[in-house]
Amino acid sequence: MAEQHPTSWIELSGKALRRNIRYLKKRIGKGPRFCSVIKGNAYGHGIRPFVHMAERVGVDCFAVYDAFEAEQALNASTGMTEIMVMGMMDHDAVEWAVHKGISFYVFDADRMQTAIDAAGHCARPARVHLELETGLNRTGLEGVELDRVVDLIRHNRDRVDVVGLCTHFAGAESIANHTRVTHQIVRYGEVVDELKDRGIQPKFHHAACSAAVLTIPETVMDMVRVGIAQYGFWPSKETRMHNLLSLENSFKKDPLQRVISWKSQVMGLKQVPAGNFVSYGTSYLTARNETMAVIPVGYAHGFSRSLSNRGHVLIRGKRAAVVGMVNMNMIMVDVTDINGVVPGDEVVMIGKQGRREITVSAFTDLTQNVNYETLTRLPSEIPRKIVE
Ligand SMILES: *Cc1c(COP(=O)(O)O)cnc(C)c1O
Repeated sequence: MAEQHPTSWIELSGKALRRNIRYLKKRIGKGPRFCSVIKGNAYGHGIRPFVHMAERVGVDCFAVYDAFEAEQALNASTGMTEIMVMGMMDHDAVEWAVHKGISFYVFDADRMQTAIDAAGHCARPARVHLELETGLNRTGLEGVELDRVVDLIRHNRDRVDVVGLCTHFAGAESIANHTRVTHQIVRYGEVVDELKDRGIQPKFHHAACSAAVLTIPETVMDMVRVGIAQYGFWPSKETRMHNLLSLENSFKKDPLQRVISWKSQVMGLKQVPAGNFVSYGTSYLTARNETMAVIPVGYAHGFSRSLSNRGHVLIRGKRAAVVGMVNMNMIMVDVTDINGVVPGDEVVMIGKQGRREITVSAFTDLTQNVNYETLTRLPSEIPRKIVE
């Protein structure tokens, strides 16, 4: 049976990813491991295609949030790349991870005990990263809980392989958090020293996310966890400014390139005479005889209703404004001033066409930079295609 065509699709650029990883590795240096963060469905890019692409350009590890994502990564992977779970796992998931050799964060004694038990069942040590509390005040180990975990490890040496010690910064992308992050770096060093004295001295130390890699080089240590930057986005405007101003390449091209594009096609055209409302309600009134293109993408596909009468798409290399309300499965865009539009023409909701581009931040947003949220909201059902 022939496959049905999707109403929209996401394209992932292999070339952009290759360049981003090459650039980031240059910034990080040769030694440290490059852990590619693919939680949130690889920031909306799709775990399966992204893992496939990333393995070909050389990453050492994938970091996911939960066991569901770990399984997706494992299925997509050649099996040669390490997988690390940073967040939620129930008892069964811990058992599964130990069995599969997947490493995971430990941030309480309960999980440590579960891991030790699982290691007993599988006759294979649990591979763990101890997440240390340094000031984010979210899931890190500290105080008596840390003591309990250390005791469990010391009494079960053959069942636990402590692969790493790690922490996460409370917003390295903003100078507003500088004092807090600086304290975290100091605190991390202190806890690492204390643990060393107690016989816990793993191979890997990791703290840096994209923003830390790009603005606080001393946080790189011997492994980094890079998310947003590998997809071609600066973590914040500040991070971008900091880098573009401080590097000698300030007048060259942006070293990070967007991997993702989201596209559809013109479904139909409609002539609407002057003085008529378009689509539901009365929010858009034609001021002249206008040509509308109907695009089969709506809020059910992740095209937010907040873009009603506000968003743009690209058709034939030109910007076309969304007119009227975004419907569940359709939008109307004004193509009156774009010559020769026909059904089947490519429509770009995110990405480039000709010399124009719709950025992810322009796509949703209006005031703040919320690339992370916008990307992860792209529905996982939209098909992803890898392009050169
Ligand atoms: C998401 C996440 C990262 C990656 O952050 P980016 O800003 O996308 O680079 C790193 N570490 C942890 C613990 C995370 O949750």
